[in-house]
Amino acid sequence: MRSLNFVLLSLCAATLLSTPNRAQESDAPITIIRAGTLIDGTSAKPIKNQVIFVQGDRIIKVSGDTGTLTGKDVIDLSHATVLPGLIDSHTHIFLWGEDPAKGGYDANILNAGIAQRAARATVAVRRALEQGFTTLRDVETEGAGYGDVEIRAAIEEGTIPGPRLFVVTRAISTTGGYNLEGYAPELDMPKGAQLVDGPVEARKAAREQLEHGADWIKVYMTHRSWVDRAGHLVSQPTLTVDELRAIVDEAHGWGKKVACHAYGGIGLQRALDGGCDSIEHGLELTDANIAQMLRQGTWLCPTLAPYYQNWAPENTPAGQRDRKRAEVHEPSFKRALHAGVKIAFGTDMGGIPWDQPIAHEFDYMVKFGMSPMDAIRSATSRAAEMLDMKGEIGALAPGVYADVIAVRGDPLANIAELRNVSFVMHNGAVFKSETSK
Ligand SMILES: [Zn+2]
Repeated sequence: MRSLNFVLLSLCAATLLSTPNRAQESDAPITIIRAGTLIDGTSAKPIKNQVIFVQGDRIIKVSGDTGTLTGKDVIDLSHATVLPGLIDSHTHIFLWGEDPAKGGYDANILNAGIAQRAARATVAVRRALEQGFTTLRDVETEGAGYGDVEIRAAIEEGTIPGPRLFVVTRAISTTGGYNLEGYAPELDMPKGAQLVDGPVEARKAAREQLEHGADWIKVYMTHRSWVDRAGHLVSQPTLTVDELRAIVDEAHGWGKKVACHAYGGIGLQRALDGGCDSIEHGLELTDANIAQMLRQGTWLCPTLAPYYQNWAPENTPAGQRDRKRAEVHEPSFKRALHAGVKIAFGTDMGGIPWDQPIAHEFDYMVKFGMSPMDAIRSATSRAAEMLDMKGEIGALAPGVYADVIAVRGDPLANIAELRNVSFVMHNGAVFKSETSK
């Protein structure tokens, strides 16, 4: 039975609506969120004392808070900072860390069967939602086939809690271009990506992945990295421009985009020449690379955090590589930022264990010169733009999906506040509230 309060609120909310829309016509109950400070994901400045009206899975109105709204359908976040649900544009829900002591990357494929991997992915998506990430672009299953399509379906049918997923399925690289490797040549080892050689195979792989539900295509344009004798970071190129062009042409024909893992050098140049829509990592960007990205409208998803932690010992080739990667990544990010390259927040979670805070990436973005507001926008409205979801997610405005989070402190003063998300609403349903455990 609906309370009188609810009826009054509904009437009140209805009269506040200036334009009729689909949601208003529905008789779904209206939930009201009082926001002490509102960061709407698009504006340059926060706004004080706002009210968000949610009906069904959408926001129907945002307006000033007169302080008069009370009742059981009012969520009082008047002491908190309220933001759009966050978007992580580079995750791996099927990856469970790469700690060498636990068998490294290979253990993910060699020691865990598909059911265990699915169970882990189920935990990963819940962990993301708990931390306020209501959308993920998950950039390959690392040998778990089309499992991401099925986790996406399980979330959409309500079987398990999780964010909205954009998935790439298997990802594509070349022979000699992806793990598992280093085993006896007689062994036919499983691979973490679909390996192709030649434009025909490349196009076929893209077609297969798109047929089976890929929202994006992910391509590895570089593989491995090391420091050469002259002290430069080198990363082995994989696909040729012709191979990549076949994939990009196919994906674009389906109205989909292509994300390219590329560290630098020849492989990154091929990624740009082949028409990639987003460069993943982009550790070493030349001025010419940056100019080409600006010209082509290419996104950069820098994933800074994983390159600044867990380095191998200093006097080892791996340790030197790890330090060199960090050394070149920071100035590349800064130059791309100052040149105006479009930057989307991404973490490489999965490579980073899922018990670590996803929002750690914000710390590096801000430390390397991005304003806190721009860092937030890279994980809200900017990421939505990259995902072709502008006006649907990544903002707090009428018509947008009701993905709403809150933190107690001020993330513009201390970006680390985003590690402590205390309230999460996803598609209009409260997943986590300050009183819940
Ligand atoms: Zn990755």
